[in-house]
Amino acid sequence: MDTERISDIFASEVFSEDVMRERLPKDVYKSLLNTIATGKEIDAGIADVVAGAMKDWAVEHGATHFTHWFQPLTGVTAEKHDAFLTPVGGGKAIMEFSGKELIKGEPDASSFPSGGLRATFEARGYTAWDPASYAFIKDKSLYIPTAFCSYTGEALDTKTPLLRSMDAISAQGLRIVRLFGDNTAKRVTTTVGAEQEYFLIDEEDFKARRDLFYCGRTLFGAPAVKGQELEDHYFGALRPRVSAFMHELDIELWKLGISAKTKHNEAAPAQHELAPIYCTTNIAVDNNLLTMEFMKTIAPKYGMACLLAEKPFAGINGSGKHNNWSLGTDTGINLLKPGKTPAENKQFLLILAAVIKAVDDYQDLLRISAATAGNDCRLGGCEAPPSIISVFLGDELDMIVSSIVDGSEYSDKKNSKYMSLGIPSIPNIRRDTADRNRTSPFAFTGNKFEFRMVGSSQNIALANIVINTAVASSLSDFADELEAAEDFEAALTTLISRTFREHKRILFSGNSYSDEWVKEAAARGLSNFKTAPEAYEHFTDEKNINLFEKFAVMSETEMRSRREIFFENYRKIKNIEARTMLEMTIRDYIPAVSAYVEKLSTAVVNKKAAIPNVNTEAECDLIERLSELLSKTYSAYGELLRTENTAVKKSCDEEAAFYYKSHVIPKMDTLRRYVDEMEVLTAREFWPVPTYGDITFRV
Ligand code: ADP
Ligand code: MG
Repeated sequence: MDTERISDIFASEVFSEDVMRERLPKDVYKSLLNTIATGKEIDAGIADVVAGAMKDWAVEHGATHFTHWFQPLTGVTAEKHDAFLTPVGGGKAIMEFSGKELIKGEPDASSFPSGGLRATFEARGYTAWDPASYAFIKDKSLYIPTAFCSYTGEALDTKTPLLRSMDAISAQGLRIVRLFGDNTAKRVTTTVGAEQEYFLIDEEDFKARRDLFYCGRTLFGAPAVKGQELEDHYFGALRPRVSAFMHELDIELWKLGISAKTKHNEAAPAQHELAPIYCTTNIAVDNNLLTMEFMKTIAPKYGMACLLAEKPFAGINGSGKHNNWSLGTDTGINLLKPGKTPAENKQFLLILAAVIKAVDDYQDLLRISAATAGNDCRLGGCEAPPSIISVFLGDELDMIVSSIVDGSEYSDKKNSKYMSLGIPSIPNIRRDTADRNRTSPFAFTGNKFEFRMVGSSQNIALANIVINTAVASSLSDFADELEAAEDFEAALTTLISRTFREHKRILFSGNSYSDEWVKEAAARGLSNFKTAPEAYEHFTDEKNINLFEKFAVMSETEMRSRREIFFENYRKIKNIEARTMLEMTIRDYIPAVSAYVEKLSTAVVNKKAAIPNVNTEAECDLIERLSELLSKTYSAYGELLRTENTAVKKSCDEEAAFYYKSHVIPKMDTLRRYVDEMEVLTAREFWPVPTYGDITFRV
């Protein structure tokens, strides 16, 4: 592998545009490209030709099977493999693959979450080929990216609404660029680069702890003597095992055309990051899901386990996913890049205003897109944004926005590279401003926005569905107003300054991690949903249903089903966590501490038998303190068991989710506190599971 060149292996397992051009008759290739560009349905005759070419290519690459690959609402991907096999009599078989098989699959959908959309008797669902995402080969199967719907046509996946949201923002974006005289762009596309954080730990440690292998995160654990305070892990030298893992990961990703670009150690011990080069949103989502999958499957080859949970260890940083997002035309113009000419700069400010308005109007939806049981443990710690959405623009743009809002003159003589905007009250913009604010949940970073709230284990589709649709809505309002204007220039200036004025409250450039911000945000009327259930409640607020229905991204029925699934998922995760804690307490921790207490007691008796007046203070003190903690632990166990049993009996997922949040989680916290206190008093050889120190420093 070491001698291979990236250029030789990159996308070698992908049925890419190059492969299509090479292998398809010219007219079929053109028609397929047109289907991809316009999102229209593919011709049945063409599908047969494409399927044949795909099969031949896949077989040459060692594939024996094909699978429709889809993204149900479980948060992970799903696949069911069929061999390219057709018996032809006489004990013979040939390898076949038809257009029909390419276009449509009918997996039994009864075990995928549907949030009440699909009655149990109607188990069928279908998968439909998405020609805009490339097919690829993995483990001797041809993977065909598909959308997944119920038989009545409602989306049961994350990809369908994502593709619809991309169409929505394209349609509205085109209206805007046309107003600025661009008559060549055929599509406005959104681009995404998802920076993925993760932990690598020794596989033995992973297997030795039930909380890790059932829940992907620790539910107990006293802090290690050393954490991340020396800041010696961030960007530190890669240890050999980690480096070997990263190398293989890169190679496997490159083969699938995933442009893994940056890798480094992160702030917490055992924490790392991978960033790809950005691409079109639907492909970026597919690629991120594959990246997470490969991280999980490659780690064991190096004796490690990969943790994607948002907060695997209390007290040290958790993992997020920075969703870098921008929009541009299919002709290669980034609409979030300050321009070279006055007209371009006005367009830039208008797009900027559209994003700011979108984030302010739909704070709740953005928060929901990052709301999971796991991410609740991370947000608001000193490592991730709080649960309040705000936008950071940087000093330069802040000053510009302020001057536009106040109508005051803006001048900054420090920099001579300014471009003239040529209209009153909209000042010059310096390009490539380099400010950074690491604490902001939604930060402008030069030519893109970085949404930093998403959790490391999440599918980024929902975040992008929300951003795309909310921005499409701003752009649509803007286009309505500007298309109707008699004096375009005047209307534009008015619109930009009015929008900045109306949505100024969402802009914040201070420290988002501070307590002062929490107070100020409340005073500004910004929403602050501290936990996932509190956020989920707002998913189907009228304004949100109106938004998604207006742009045909999700119907009310689809939204209601998703809301159900949010609560159901939260409930299930908390249920598993509570039961894991109960099991570990009664079967691991209490027996271990009890055995240690017995050992100490025997020691006291034996010592006294040998020397009647011997000092046994240390042993007796430990016996006393541990016995006290054992009894507290046991009663906390009882309390957790009681609330957990109540939660299980609730028939409504929403009610159960809130019960977990308000009643079960506090009991989990109490139980953990006592067990962690016992951990620091118990002899190492008696402690039944690897400790934080073992786990985070062993690899
Ligand atoms: P950071 O300092 O946050 O690590 P980087 O410059 O490394 O910033 O970029 C982070 C991510 O942003 C990368 O995945 C990169 O490809 C992505 N990115 C850059 N430009 C764009 C864009 N126009 N649209 C979407 N993502 C982008
Ligand atoms: Mg970043």
